[in-house]
Amino acid sequence: MYVKSKITCFLFAAFIIGTFSGWSQQKPKVVVTASMIADMVENVAGDLVDLTCIVPIGSDPHLYEPTPKDARIVAEADILFKNGLTFEGWLNELIENAGSKAVVVTVTEGVKPIESLVYQNATDPHAWMDAENAMIYVDNITKTLVKFDPDNASIYQQKRDQYRKQIRAIDEYIKTQISYIPEEKRILITSHDAFQYYGRKYGLKLESVMGTSTDADVQTADIVRLNEVIRTSKIPAVFIESTINPKILEQLARDNKIRVGGKLYADSIGDKDSPAPSYIAMLRHNTDIIVSALTADPAEANTSGEESGSPTSLYVILAAVLLVIFFLLVRRFSGS
Ligand SMILES: [Zn+2]
Repeated sequence: MYVKSKITCFLFAAFIIGTFSGWSQQKPKVVVTASMIADMVENVAGDLVDLTCIVPIGSDPHLYEPTPKDARIVAEADILFKNGLTFEGWLNELIENAGSKAVVVTVTEGVKPIESLVYQNATDPHAWMDAENAMIYVDNITKTLVKFDPDNASIYQQKRDQYRKQIRAIDEYIKTQISYIPEEKRILITSHDAFQYYGRKYGLKLESVMGTSTDADVQTADIVRLNEVIRTSKIPAVFIESTINPKILEQLARDNKIRVGGKLYADSIGDKDSPAPSYIAMLRHNTDIIVSALTADPAEANTSGEESGSPTSLYVILAAVLLVIFFLLVRRFSGS
């Protein structure tokens, strides 16, 4: 009898300890909608949270179609960070279908929104393209994590402070770089209006084929307008985006005999092997591409693709060969 109760006691104690240690090891389950928000959470939380991003890197968050797996992830989430400002049109239904009890936090809370140019009563969601807005994102993320997991408050706050320094540095970098573009050339032509916040902050005028979302049909009037802008402002380049089909922009560049300046990252960061594997790297890469293309000499830009086969380079090779033959002949005759 005594032995039996001792065993029962031991099992009970083991159960209590097991459960308790299980609790203490349980990390907050954090779900985010898009990759740049995931990167911000990772910078603030490190491995203190169990982080999942719904829209995969390289996919378009405007047009995302949630999967049954997403519903399971959202159902189990403790915290869900979303961009808001009419970015994730598919999210409310997903949360409802999943029966999620997660705390839903809009990370743009406090951002001064830009009204959509195309849709009435809609806002432009791409607030992260202004690095100063990212400070607001990061503060909202930190506040939520501290509230949910107060034991690690000082770690979150310390990491946030370090990350804020990096964001401030990239903000300064962009300002300096954009100042190198001649003022009349500070026009950015892209697939969709993802750069209004970037333009407002850093002083670029924006033109795009589509509106603030990617589901709009391209109108002939837009193409006519863009052709006009390129011609009158002598813009040397247009830019494609990592999550959008580049066909129309490439056509526009061909028709106007100008360059495709490069691929910009707007609605998603790039993968690990890309030039934009983080939020900050994305801003730096975009800025470098924009500045290099808009400061290039248009004449240079048009011939850059033909350089390797140009007649000039053939003459140089021919001259070098003749020079070598000449020296060999001189050596031979002077030796004999
Ligand atoms: Zn977008």
